[in-house]
Amino acid sequence: MKLGRVASQDGVAFVAIEGDEGAQVAKEIAEHPFGDPTFTGRSWPLKETRLLAPILATKIIAIGKNYAAHAAEMGSEAPEDPVIFLKPNTSIIGPGVPIVRPPSSERVDYEGELAIVIGRPCKDVKAAQASSVILGYTVANDVTARDQQKVDGQWTRAKGYDTFCPLGPWIETELDPSDLAINTDLDGENRQSSRTSLMLHKVGDIVEWVSRVMTLLPGDVILTGTPEGIGPMEAGSTVSVTVEGIGTLTNPVVDK
Ligand code: MG
Repeated sequence: MKLGRVASQDGVAFVAIEGDEGAQVAKEIAEHPFGDPTFTGRSWPLKETRLLAPILATKIIAIGKNYAAHAAEMGSEAPEDPVIFLKPNTSIIGPGVPIVRPPSSERVDYEGELAIVIGRPCKDVKAAQASSVILGYTVANDVTARDQQKVDGQWTRAKGYDTFCPLGPWIETELDPSDLAINTDLDGENRQSSRTSLMLHKVGDIVEWVSRVMTLLPGDVILTGTPEGIGPMEAGSTVSVTVEGIGTLTNPVVDK
C-alpha cells in the first residue's frame, strides 16, 4: 500500500494512493495511517490534490557514512558501528517545496537516501524483528551545509536548517529494502547511482542500533545514509531522488 498525506479542496488528510500512474486516487484515511487504517469513504483524484510530506515525524535519526564509497569520497574509513545524528522535525518538507539555501553556507549538498518510517512505539528491537515495527519506506534528501559540517565538528547546524529534509512522495508499505536502486539527478543529470544492497549496516541492524539508544515512536523517520556522488546544489536547480519500488522525490532549490 502507498500511504501519503495530501492537501485537497477539503483540507489535509492521510490517504492511501491506489490505481495506475496518471489515474491514481487518494482515499482518505480516518485519523492516522498506523495499525489497520480505516477509510472515511471520501476520495480525490490524486492529480487534484497536492502531496505533502507523507509523515510528521517527532524525530529524524540519520546514519552517517553507511556506504563505503561515500565514506571514501569524504576522505575517511567507514565506521565499524553506525554513526547516528538527529535532524529536527522542522526540517521536513514535502515534494515540490523549495529547499532554501541559507546565506550562511556556501555549499549546500544533496544526499539521496532510503528512509525507514516507524509504525509503532518500540525500544530494544532485535534486527530480526525490525519489520514488525516498520510502517514502510519513503525517499529522503538529507540536505547538508557541507562547509558547516566540516567546521562545526558536529552536524546539528549543517543538517538542521528548515527545508533540509525533503520526504516523499509517499510511504510504500510492501517493500523489501535489501536491494533497491537509488539514484539522484540534478537538473536531469544523474549524480548518484547505487543500490541499497551496498549499505554497510542494513535496515534491521539500523533499527536495532537506534532503538537500543532511544524509544522510537510512530512516524519517526530513520535516514539510512547516502551513497557516493554527493555534490552541491545551486539556486534555480531541481533535485530528484528516486528509490526503486517507491518513487521519485523532486524539489527545486532557491536562495533565502
Ligand atoms: Mg546523509
